[in-house]
Amino acid sequence: MIDATTFVIGVLIGAALFAAGVALGWRWARRSGGGPPREQVLDLLQDLASWTSEVSGDVSKYQQELAQLGEQIAHGQNLPPDQLQGLLTRMMRLNKDLQLRLHDAESKLESQTEQVEDYLRESMTDGLTGLHNRRALDAELDALYAEWERKQQPFSMALIDIDHFKRINDTYGHPAGDAVLQRVAQLLHDHLDAAHCVARYGGEEFAVLSLTSPQRTAQIIDALRAAVAQTSFSHEGESIPVTLSGGVAGVAAGDSIGDVVRRADEALYASKLGGRNRVHLHDGTICRLVTQVPVESSPSGASAGYEAAEKEQLQARIQERLRKIVLDESRRMKD
Ligand code: GH3
Ligand code: MG
Ligand code: MG
Repeated sequence: MIDATTFVIGVLIGAALFAAGVALGWRWARRSGGGPPREQVLDLLQDLASWTSEVSGDVSKYQQELAQLGEQIAHGQNLPPDQLQGLLTRMMRLNKDLQLRLHDAESKLESQTEQVEDYLRESMTDGLTGLHNRRALDAELDALYAEWERKQQPFSMALIDIDHFKRINDTYGHPAGDAVLQRVAQLLHDHLDAAHCVARYGGEEFAVLSLTSPQRTAQIIDALRAAVAQTSFSHEGESIPVTLSGGVAGVAAGDSIGDVVRRADEALYASKLGGRNRVHLHDGTICRLVTQVPVESSPSGASAGYEAAEKEQLQARIQERLRKIVLDESRRMKD
């Protein structure tokens, strides 16, 4: 893109110089009537020849004619006024045509650049929430990891998942689910400053990348969780309770990108297993609860049965997700 712009600017400057040279020569030729001194004409023709050399293609054939005229004058031959006037007229016409074509090319280039930028923006944006999409997040993750490898600049990753989102869809309808996703995305966007990269990771899951320490990131994500829990969501007059669970991890020596994602994911699932609406931080060895939660009485009877079945489901999902992470990682390594 820079090359194309530089090229257009270069050609425009060349054309401007060329136009200035032609105008100067034209005025001079008219003013002097009987014919200017040979040296000056020679200089002018040499200047014109060097200006025209900046403009490629069509212009080059005029260089030859200019050079020939220059030779004629240098050898004391009389300046053929018709020939010079004819040449200047043609050069002016060519210059005008060149300017029109350049202008046309410039506007085409501008609109194409805008189209490409729009396309790139769209391809990196999630359509429903307007946040970065998974592709943009992966690119950012690659960039952060490269900086980590090059300069040991650490980074943190948080995974955030809306609790019982399927239930929200089932109870209030899919459009209500969409509205919740949009509202949560807005809260994430408003809550996290520009130093954080926030993306929709997929479905009802979001990811945050940050250069702040894992501990600080965990605090920020927990504050966000508390804000969402306190926000009243409503759709078409119905109020919808919404909570989030989060998991945070920081990059550590010897990590692959997949290791960081896996630890953030484990921390997220520790939050799910721990009862949801909470955040865990994976410290490299274990997942630590970040959220201050009131001590709860242990589940009993039917509720205990439900919890046990749910835990089993969660374990199965963890296995499935770990398998997917390994697959993603091996695909990434192949690329
Ligand atoms: P958990 O608390 O364990 O995360 O449970 P969950 O119900 O949130 O998770 P589960 O994975 O069982 O369900 C996620 C649901 O999210 C299922 C899927 O239909 C729904 N979903 C995914 N993408 C969208 C979307 O763009 N819009 C809506 N409305 N629903 C979506
Ligand atoms: Mg969920
Ligand atoms: Mg999920």
